Amino acid sequence: MLLCTAPLWGAPPAAPAPDNAPGPANLAAPTTEEERLRQAGLVDVEKYPGLHVFVRLRYATPHNFTGRTIYDSPRCYLQQEAAQALLKAARLAAAQKEPFTFCLWDCYRPQSAHQKLWDAVPNPSYVAPPKKGSRHSRGMAVDLTPCDFAGNPLAMPTDFDDFSTRAHMDFYDLPPDVLRRRETLKKIMTAAGFTYTRTEWWHFDKTGWKQKPLLNLPIPRRP
Ligand SMILES: [Zn+2]
Repeated sequence: MLLCTAPLWGAPPAAPAPDNAPGPANLAAPTTEEERLRQAGLVDVEKYPGLHVFVRLRYATPHNFTGRTIYDSPRCYLQQEAAQALLKAARLAAAQKEPFTFCLWDCYRPQSAHQKLWDAVPNPSYVAPPKKGSRHSRGMAVDLTPCDFAGNPLAMPTDFDDFSTRAHMDFYDLPPDVLRRRETLKKIMTAAGFTYTRTEWWHFDKTGWKQKPLLNLPIPRRP
């Protein structure tokens, strides 16, 4: 695995080790889950300079279509370039005639968490097969909805993970304000460097996602 090839320089000099000390192969390993994510290029969106969004990860709660908690930690990590694009999108959203920000429903999702989604719904129309992997597991996809600046979600066509045609980007039988907001969201995210998905108005992939590896590093808990 990529992280095991980290150079050994910088490791402390060898010393008599107690029985429970890590072996030589672990000396260069990052010491925390956060550090491992950082080395893989991911950043904590809540700490990203200038980015003011609301992190409301639905898979960190049972309030999602599976009715189960999919991962324990409610922290949003993205590849740095995806976070930078999200910052651009947030700035565009704040500059609209009716300004808004984002509530984030899903960000980086370890492969093991993605497997849980697949186990709950083994249907490739809804969940990417684990062999193929999810773009969320590359830290290059984000699920979000427009929110006001107090964190209240604004009206959109459906709730998160609605698998009906109403959630499709080409569904137009919607109240005018909802349709306008969805089109604005699509325009903003596209301008910021994301592509959209036809069947899920809330899901956006950062361009260049193929260049990033699938990861199975855990999401760190809050300190
Ligand atoms: Zn998604």
